[in-house]
Amino acid sequence: MRIVRDELDSALWGESTGEIKFGNAHIPLPYPVLTSTDLNYASEFSREFLTPISFPNQVHESKKLWAKDFVLKVLDSREKQQQEIDWINANLMKAKDNAESKMSFFTPLLTKEVPVSRKIIDLLVGIQLDSELEIVQILDSQRLSQTEMALVIKENVKIIKDAGKEPFFLTSTAFDEELFKARLEIAKKTMSGITALYSNPTKHSQNFNALATSKEENFLRFLSNVDRRYPKFGKCNVVPIAMLCSDIFSSSLGMGGGSKKEAIKKEQTNARRLNNECLGHLTMAEHQKEYGEKLDCNCPVDRGNELSDLYIDHKGHLNDTFRTHEPYAVFEAVEQAREKINSGKLLEEYIHKKEYAKQAYEELFKWKQSNILSF
Ligand SMILES: [Zn+2]
Repeated sequence: MRIVRDELDSALWGESTGEIKFGNAHIPLPYPVLTSTDLNYASEFSREFLTPISFPNQVHESKKLWAKDFVLKVLDSREKQQQEIDWINANLMKAKDNAESKMSFFTPLLTKEVPVSRKIIDLLVGIQLDSELEIVQILDSQRLSQTEMALVIKENVKIIKDAGKEPFFLTSTAFDEELFKARLEIAKKTMSGITALYSNPTKHSQNFNALATSKEENFLRFLSNVDRRYPKFGKCNVVPIAMLCSDIFSSSLGMGGGSKKEAIKKEQTNARRLNNECLGHLTMAEHQKEYGEKLDCNCPVDRGNELSDLYIDHKGHLNDTFRTHEPYAVFEAVEQAREKINSGKLLEEYIHKKEYAKQAYEELFKWKQSNILSF
Protein backbone atom coordinates (compact mmCIF):
# COMPACT_ATOMS: atom_id res chain seq x y z
CA MET A 1 0.00 0.00 0.00
CA ARG A 2 1.22 3.47 -0.86
CA ILE A 3 -0.32 6.79 0.11
CA VAL A 4 0.56 9.67 -2.17
CA ARG A 5 -0.50 13.18 -1.19
CA ASP A 6 -1.13 16.09 -3.53
CA GLU A 7 0.66 19.36 -3.01
CA LEU A 8 -2.12 21.80 -2.19
CA ASP A 9 -1.64 25.53 -2.67
CA SER A 10 -3.79 26.61 0.22
CA ALA A 11 -4.65 23.66 2.42
CA LEU A 12 -6.65 24.57 5.48
CA TRP A 13 -6.26 22.69 8.72
CA GLY A 14 -7.00 19.05 8.05
CA GLU A 15 -7.47 19.34 4.29
CA SER A 16 -5.68 16.76 2.21
CA THR A 17 -6.13 15.03 -1.13
CA GLY A 18 -4.14 12.34 -2.85
CA GLU A 19 -4.58 8.65 -3.43
CA ILE A 20 -4.11 5.17 -2.07
CA LYS A 21 -2.32 2.75 -4.33
CA PHE A 22 -3.40 -0.70 -3.26
CA GLY A 23 -2.63 -3.53 -5.67
CA ASN A 24 -4.12 -2.35 -8.95
CA ALA A 25 -6.50 0.06 -7.24
CA HIS A 26 -6.06 3.82 -7.18
CA ILE A 27 -8.43 5.20 -4.58
CA PRO A 28 -8.75 9.00 -4.37
CA LEU A 29 -8.60 10.74 -0.99
CA PRO A 30 -10.62 11.69 0.96
CA TYR A 31 -12.85 8.66 0.54
CA PRO A 32 -15.99 7.25 2.21
CA VAL A 33 -15.95 3.67 3.45
CA LEU A 34 -18.93 1.38 2.88
CA THR A 35 -19.78 -0.67 5.98
CA SER A 36 -21.31 -4.08 6.51
CA THR A 37 -24.26 -2.25 8.10
CA ASP A 38 -24.79 -0.28 4.88
CA LEU A 39 -24.77 -3.55 2.96
CA ASN A 40 -27.28 -5.11 5.36
CA TYR A 41 -29.73 -2.29 4.74
CA ALA A 42 -29.18 -2.60 1.00
CA SER A 43 -29.84 -6.39 1.17
CA GLU A 44 -33.16 -5.75 2.93
CA PHE A 45 -34.10 -3.20 0.33
CA SER A 46 -33.01 -5.44 -2.55
CA ARG A 47 -35.02 -8.37 -1.22
CA GLU A 48 -38.13 -6.29 -0.70
CA PHE A 49 -38.14 -4.46 -4.00
CA LEU A 50 -36.21 -6.92 -6.18
CA THR A 51 -33.80 -4.16 -7.11
CA PRO A 52 -30.14 -5.15 -7.43
CA ILE A 53 -27.95 -2.70 -5.55
CA SER A 54 -24.37 -1.95 -6.40
CA PHE A 55 -22.25 0.67 -4.67
CA PRO A 56 -19.26 2.51 -6.14
CA ASN A 57 -17.12 2.28 -2.98
CA GLN A 58 -13.74 0.59 -3.19
CA VAL A 59 -13.14 0.50 0.56
CA HIS A 60 -15.23 -1.66 2.84
CA GLU A 61 -15.40 -2.22 6.59
CA SER A 62 -17.00 -5.15 8.38
CA LYS A 63 -18.10 -4.03 11.79
CA LYS A 64 -19.35 -5.99 14.72
CA LEU A 65 -19.99 -5.37 18.40
CA TRP A 66 -17.94 -7.63 20.65
CA ALA A 67 -19.38 -7.80 24.16
CA LYS A 68 -17.49 -9.39 27.05
CA ASP A 69 -19.33 -12.75 27.10
CA PHE A 70 -18.85 -13.11 23.39
CA VAL A 71 -15.13 -12.30 23.54
CA LEU A 72 -14.59 -14.87 26.31
CA LYS A 73 -16.43 -17.54 24.32
CA VAL A 74 -14.35 -16.86 21.20
CA LEU A 75 -11.13 -16.94 23.25
CA ASP A 76 -11.98 -20.42 24.51
CA SER A 77 -13.27 -22.06 21.40
CA ARG A 78 -11.51 -22.83 18.15
CA GLU A 79 -14.92 -23.48 16.61
CA LYS A 80 -16.13 -20.00 17.53
CA GLN A 81 -12.94 -18.52 16.11
CA GLN A 82 -13.56 -20.31 12.84
CA GLN A 83 -17.12 -18.91 12.81
CA GLU A 84 -15.69 -15.41 13.04
CA ILE A 85 -13.23 -16.09 10.22
CA ASP A 86 -16.14 -17.39 8.11
CA TRP A 87 -18.19 -14.29 9.02
CA ILE A 88 -15.37 -11.99 7.87
CA ASN A 89 -14.90 -13.94 4.61
CA ALA A 90 -18.65 -13.91 3.92
CA ASN A 91 -18.63 -10.13 4.39
CA LEU A 92 -15.67 -9.75 2.04
CA MET A 93 -17.56 -11.73 -0.58
CA LYS A 94 -20.69 -9.63 -0.08
CA ALA A 95 -18.64 -6.44 -0.43
CA LYS A 96 -17.11 -7.71 -3.68
CA ASP A 97 -20.54 -8.71 -5.03
CA ASN A 98 -22.28 -5.45 -4.14
CA ALA A 99 -19.54 -2.84 -4.43
CA GLU A 100 -16.25 -2.29 -6.18
CA SER A 101 -14.54 -3.38 -3.00
CA LYS A 102 -10.74 -3.52 -3.28
CA MET A 103 -9.67 -2.81 0.27
CA SER A 104 -11.32 -4.26 3.37
CA PHE A 105 -11.12 -3.77 7.11
CA PHE A 106 -12.52 -5.75 9.98
CA THR A 107 -13.26 -3.51 12.98
CA PRO A 108 -14.53 -5.19 16.12
CA LEU A 109 -16.18 -2.67 18.44
CA LEU A 110 -15.40 -3.94 21.92
CA THR A 111 -17.79 -2.86 24.64
CA LYS A 112 -16.31 -0.95 27.57
CA GLU A 113 -16.28 -3.84 30.04
CA VAL A 114 -14.03 -6.03 27.87
CA PRO A 115 -10.61 -6.21 29.57
CA VAL A 116 -8.38 -5.93 26.51
CA SER A 117 -5.43 -8.18 27.31
CA ARG A 118 -2.51 -9.33 25.18
CA LYS A 119 -4.40 -12.59 24.67
CA ILE A 120 -7.39 -10.75 23.15
CA ILE A 121 -5.14 -8.62 20.91
CA ASP A 122 -3.36 -11.74 19.64
CA LEU A 123 -6.68 -13.54 19.16
CA LEU A 124 -8.00 -10.77 16.93
CA VAL A 125 -4.80 -10.60 14.91
CA GLY A 126 -4.96 -14.40 14.49
CA ILE A 127 -8.56 -14.33 13.28
CA GLN A 128 -7.81 -11.62 10.72
CA LEU A 129 -4.65 -13.40 9.55
CA ASP A 130 -6.60 -16.61 8.96
CA SER A 131 -9.23 -14.73 6.98
CA GLU A 132 -8.84 -13.39 3.46
CA LEU A 133 -8.29 -9.83 4.67
CA GLU A 134 -5.22 -8.09 3.32
CA ILE A 135 -5.24 -5.49 6.10
CA VAL A 136 -4.84 -6.73 9.67
CA GLN A 137 -5.65 -4.43 12.57
CA ILE A 138 -3.80 -4.62 15.87
CA LEU A 139 -6.11 -3.64 18.69
CA ASP A 140 -4.89 -1.04 21.19
CA SER A 141 -5.40 -1.42 24.93
CA GLN A 142 -5.30 1.22 27.64
CA ARG A 143 -4.43 -1.52 30.09
CA LEU A 144 -1.00 -2.00 28.56
CA SER A 145 1.85 0.41 29.19
CA GLN A 146 3.67 2.08 26.32
CA THR A 147 6.53 -0.42 26.70
CA GLU A 148 4.21 -3.42 26.77
CA MET A 149 2.22 -2.14 23.82
CA ALA A 150 5.42 -1.47 21.86
CA LEU A 151 6.38 -5.12 22.28
CA VAL A 152 2.91 -6.38 21.28
CA ILE A 153 3.08 -4.17 18.20
CA LYS A 154 6.60 -5.20 17.26
CA GLU A 155 5.82 -8.91 17.42
CA ASN A 156 2.46 -8.66 15.66
CA VAL A 157 3.70 -6.29 12.94
CA LYS A 158 6.38 -8.85 12.09
CA ILE A 159 3.86 -11.70 11.90
CA ILE A 160 1.51 -9.60 9.74
CA LYS A 161 4.24 -8.46 7.36
CA ASP A 162 5.68 -11.98 7.11
CA ALA A 163 2.21 -13.11 6.01
CA GLY A 164 2.39 -10.50 3.23
CA LYS A 165 -0.37 -8.36 4.77
CA GLU A 166 -0.62 -4.71 5.85
CA PRO A 167 -0.59 -3.85 9.58
CA PHE A 168 -2.93 -1.14 10.89
CA PHE A 169 -3.35 0.11 14.44
CA LEU A 170 -6.89 0.13 15.83
CA THR A 171 -7.15 2.72 18.58
CA SER A 172 -9.62 5.29 19.89
CA THR A 173 -9.86 9.07 19.84
CA ALA A 174 -11.49 8.78 23.28
CA PHE A 175 -8.13 7.85 24.84
CA ASP A 176 -6.19 10.21 27.07
CA GLU A 177 -4.28 12.83 25.02
CA GLU A 178 -0.76 11.75 25.91
CA LEU A 179 -1.57 8.12 25.29
CA PHE A 180 -3.22 8.83 21.93
CA LYS A 181 -0.28 10.93 20.80
CA ALA A 182 2.22 8.25 21.77
CA ARG A 183 0.20 5.56 20.02
CA LEU A 184 -0.15 7.68 16.89
CA GLU A 185 3.62 8.12 16.79
CA ILE A 186 4.30 4.41 17.11
CA ALA A 187 1.73 3.67 14.39
CA LYS A 188 3.42 6.15 12.04
CA LYS A 189 6.78 4.51 12.58
CA THR A 190 5.75 0.89 12.27
CA MET A 191 2.45 0.49 10.41
CA SER A 192 0.63 1.34 7.17
CA GLY A 193 -2.01 3.35 8.95
CA ILE A 194 -4.22 4.00 11.91
CA THR A 195 -7.91 3.28 12.45
CA ALA A 196 -9.13 5.73 15.08
CA LEU A 197 -12.59 5.17 16.50
CA TYR A 198 -14.66 8.33 16.59
CA SER A 199 -15.63 10.02 19.86
CA ASN A 200 -16.81 13.50 20.82
CA PRO A 201 -14.41 15.89 18.99
CA THR A 202 -14.99 18.76 21.42
CA LYS A 203 -14.17 16.61 24.41
CA HIS A 204 -11.13 15.06 22.74
CA SER A 205 -10.08 17.98 20.57
CA GLN A 206 -6.33 17.39 20.99
CA ASN A 207 -6.66 13.88 19.61
CA PHE A 208 -8.63 15.07 16.61
CA ASN A 209 -6.03 17.77 16.08
CA ALA A 210 -3.20 15.23 16.25
CA LEU A 211 -4.97 13.07 13.69
CA ALA A 212 -5.85 15.97 11.39
CA THR A 213 -2.29 17.25 11.33
CA SER A 214 -0.68 13.86 10.64
CA LYS A 215 -0.93 14.22 6.88
CA GLU A 216 2.09 12.12 6.06
CA GLU A 217 3.13 10.25 2.97
CA ASN A 218 2.58 6.53 3.22
CA PHE A 219 0.43 6.70 6.32
CA LEU A 220 -3.33 6.27 6.03
CA ARG A 221 -5.71 7.78 8.59
CA PHE A 222 -9.04 5.99 8.94
CA LEU A 223 -11.71 7.55 11.19
CA SER A 224 -14.18 4.79 11.93
CA ASN A 225 -17.68 4.75 13.39
CA VAL A 226 -18.41 8.45 12.91
CA ASP A 227 -21.87 9.52 14.10
CA ARG A 228 -24.19 9.57 11.12
CA ARG A 229 -26.30 12.16 12.84
CA TYR A 230 -24.70 14.32 15.47
CA PRO A 231 -26.88 13.86 18.57
CA LYS A 232 -27.00 17.54 19.43
CA PHE A 233 -28.32 18.39 15.96
CA GLY A 234 -30.47 15.46 14.90
CA LYS A 235 -30.46 16.59 11.29
CA CYS A 236 -26.74 16.99 10.52
CA ASN A 237 -24.87 14.26 8.74
CA VAL A 238 -21.39 14.38 10.22
CA VAL A 239 -19.77 11.80 7.96
CA PRO A 240 -18.51 14.04 5.12
CA ILE A 241 -17.11 16.52 7.67
CA ALA A 242 -14.99 13.72 9.11
CA MET A 243 -12.78 14.07 6.03
CA LEU A 244 -11.13 17.03 7.78
CA CYS A 245 -9.52 14.74 10.32
CA SER A 246 -8.85 11.72 8.18
CA ASP A 247 -8.31 10.22 4.73
CA ILE A 248 -11.04 7.61 4.80
CA PHE A 249 -13.99 7.38 7.18
CA SER A 250 -17.00 5.22 7.95
CA SER A 251 -20.30 5.86 9.67
CA SER A 252 -21.55 4.36 12.93
CA LEU A 253 -23.60 1.19 13.10
CA GLY A 254 -26.70 3.30 13.83
CA MET A 255 -29.07 0.37 13.86
CA GLY A 256 -31.49 2.22 16.13
CA GLY A 257 -33.57 0.69 18.87
CA GLY A 258 -37.18 -0.38 19.21
CA SER A 259 -39.20 -2.99 17.41
CA LYS A 260 -39.79 -3.11 13.68
CA LYS A 261 -43.48 -2.31 14.31
CA GLU A 262 -42.61 0.82 16.29
CA ALA A 263 -40.10 1.85 13.63
CA ILE A 264 -42.71 1.50 10.89
CA LYS A 265 -45.25 3.52 12.87
CA LYS A 266 -42.72 6.21 13.55
CA GLU A 267 -41.38 6.34 10.02
CA GLN A 268 -44.70 7.21 8.41
CA THR A 269 -44.53 10.73 9.68
CA ASN A 270 -40.92 11.25 10.67
CA ALA A 271 -38.71 9.21 8.35
CA ARG A 272 -35.67 11.30 7.50
CA ARG A 273 -33.74 11.10 4.27
CA LEU A 274 -30.24 12.47 3.75
CA ASN A 275 -30.44 15.41 1.37
CA ASN A 276 -27.24 16.12 -0.51
CA GLU A 277 -27.97 19.79 -1.15
CA CYS A 278 -27.75 20.64 2.55
CA LEU A 279 -26.34 17.42 4.12
CA GLY A 280 -29.31 17.29 6.47
CA HIS A 281 -31.59 14.38 7.28
CA LEU A 282 -34.94 15.87 6.30
CA THR A 283 -38.51 14.74 6.78
CA MET A 284 -40.83 14.77 3.80
CA ALA A 285 -42.33 18.14 4.79
CA GLU A 286 -38.90 19.72 5.35
CA HIS A 287 -37.67 18.51 1.98
CA GLN A 288 -40.79 19.72 0.16
CA LYS A 289 -40.59 23.13 1.73
CA GLU A 290 -37.04 23.72 0.50
CA TYR A 291 -36.78 21.63 -2.64
CA GLY A 292 -40.29 20.63 -3.70
CA GLU A 293 -40.62 17.16 -5.19
CA LYS A 294 -37.25 17.10 -6.90
CA LEU A 295 -34.69 14.61 -5.62
CA ASP A 296 -31.02 15.46 -5.36
CA CYS A 297 -29.72 11.99 -6.19
CA ASN A 298 -29.53 9.52 -9.04
CA CYS A 299 -28.95 6.34 -7.03
CA PRO A 300 -30.92 3.13 -7.80
CA VAL A 301 -33.42 4.04 -5.07
CA ASP A 302 -34.14 7.56 -6.29
CA ARG A 303 -33.62 7.34 -10.06
CA GLY A 304 -36.71 8.48 -11.96
CA ASN A 305 -38.67 9.15 -8.77
CA GLU A 306 -40.06 12.19 -7.08
CA LEU A 307 -39.98 12.60 -3.32
CA SER A 308 -43.56 11.53 -2.63
CA ASP A 309 -43.12 8.41 -4.81
CA LEU A 310 -40.57 7.20 -2.28
CA TYR A 311 -42.84 7.76 0.70
CA ILE A 312 -45.76 6.04 -1.09
CA ASP A 313 -43.97 3.19 -2.88
CA HIS A 314 -41.73 2.26 0.04
CA LYS A 315 -44.23 2.73 2.84
CA GLY A 316 -43.37 0.38 5.68
CA HIS A 317 -39.75 0.11 4.48
CA LEU A 318 -38.65 3.72 4.53
CA ASN A 319 -35.75 3.05 6.87
CA ASP A 320 -34.20 0.44 4.55
CA THR A 321 -34.94 2.67 1.57
CA PHE A 322 -33.33 5.79 2.96
CA ARG A 323 -30.40 3.90 4.47
CA THR A 324 -29.74 2.33 1.07
CA HIS A 325 -29.66 5.78 -0.54
CA GLU A 326 -27.37 7.20 2.15
CA PRO A 327 -23.99 5.70 1.10
CA TYR A 328 -24.58 7.09 -2.42
CA ALA A 329 -25.37 10.53 -1.04
CA VAL A 330 -22.22 10.47 1.11
CA PHE A 331 -20.12 9.23 -1.81
CA GLU A 332 -21.38 12.08 -3.97
CA ALA A 333 -20.86 14.61 -1.15
CA VAL A 334 -17.25 13.52 -0.72
CA GLU A 335 -16.57 13.69 -4.46
CA GLN A 336 -17.81 17.29 -4.45
CA ALA A 337 -15.71 18.10 -1.39
CA ARG A 338 -12.56 16.62 -2.93
CA GLU A 339 -12.95 18.88 -5.92
CA LYS A 340 -13.35 21.91 -3.65
CA ILE A 341 -10.30 21.00 -1.60
CA ASN A 342 -8.29 20.81 -4.82
CA SER A 343 -9.46 24.24 -5.89
CA GLY A 344 -8.86 25.67 -2.39
CA LYS A 345 -12.52 26.52 -1.86
CA LEU A 346 -13.83 23.92 0.56
CA LEU A 347 -14.99 26.35 3.21
CA GLU A 348 -16.66 28.94 0.98
CA GLU A 349 -18.06 26.75 -1.72
CA TYR A 350 -18.88 23.57 0.12
CA ILE A 351 -19.18 23.82 3.89
CA HIS A 352 -20.77 27.24 3.90
CA LYS A 353 -23.10 26.31 1.03
CA LYS A 354 -24.55 23.24 2.71
CA GLU A 355 -26.61 24.36 5.67
CA TYR A 356 -26.16 21.28 7.84
CA ALA A 357 -22.53 20.71 6.87
CA LYS A 358 -21.91 24.23 8.15
CA GLN A 359 -23.78 23.54 11.37
CA ALA A 360 -21.92 20.26 11.94
CA TYR A 361 -18.58 21.87 11.10
CA GLU A 362 -19.09 24.77 13.49
CA GLU A 363 -20.23 22.53 16.29
CA LEU A 364 -17.64 19.81 15.85
CA PHE A 365 -14.68 22.11 15.44
CA LYS A 366 -15.64 25.08 17.59
CA TRP A 367 -12.62 24.40 19.76
CA LYS A 368 -10.40 25.29 16.82
CA GLN A 369 -11.37 28.94 16.89
CA SER A 370 -10.36 29.59 20.48
CA ASN A 371 -7.61 27.06 20.66
CA ILE A 372 -3.95 26.81 19.84
CA LEU A 373 -4.65 25.94 16.27
CA SER A 374 -4.39 27.93 13.16
CA PHE A 375 -6.31 27.09 10.05
ZN1 LIG B 1 -30.19 8.38 -3.66
